Amino acid sequence: MFGSRAVVGIAAETLDFVLDAAEDTHPNEYMGLMRAERARDLGLDAEGLVVTDVLVIPGTESNSVSATMRTSMIPNDRKTVGSVHSHPSGVIRPSDADLATFGKGPVHIIMGAPYRRSDWRAFDRDGKPRSLDVLDVDLPDPEDFFDFDEADLDL
Ligand SMILES: [Zn+2]
Repeated sequence: MFGSRAVVGIAAETLDFVLDAAEDTHPNEYMGLMRAERARDLGLDAEGLVVTDVLVIPGTESNSVSATMRTSMIPNDRKTVGSVHSHPSGVIRPSDADLATFGKGPVHIIMGAPYRRSDWRAFDRDGKPRSLDVLDVDLPDPEDFFDFDEADLDL
């Protein structure tokens, strides 16, 4: 984690990517980890962090009601700021199981079917709705963006 730096937004391209991924995974639940870069490193004149990347964890088991991450596969990675997952039911509200895992990061997104731009909400570590701006930013090189680096894993 980046210490106390606040997560201020998500890149529009990243949001579209993850909504598409949720739609592709439907009716099963999609789950990933969100990683962030410093807003200043993305050319924004702002403090804080912006979500630019979503990492799907190998070994994630998913069905229509839950996605269980093998915790041993979660990267020990300072860039990880929270999680993103889908609710195929369309209900955009954290479940008890979600609340139990939200403490691991400051921002968590739940997307609900049918996964349009309006079908998601961000929550804080207590499961309370929080704001998260959608920002038009230039993302890093796509090869880096989608490259899954085993060195990120805490094996
Ligand atoms: Zn959930």
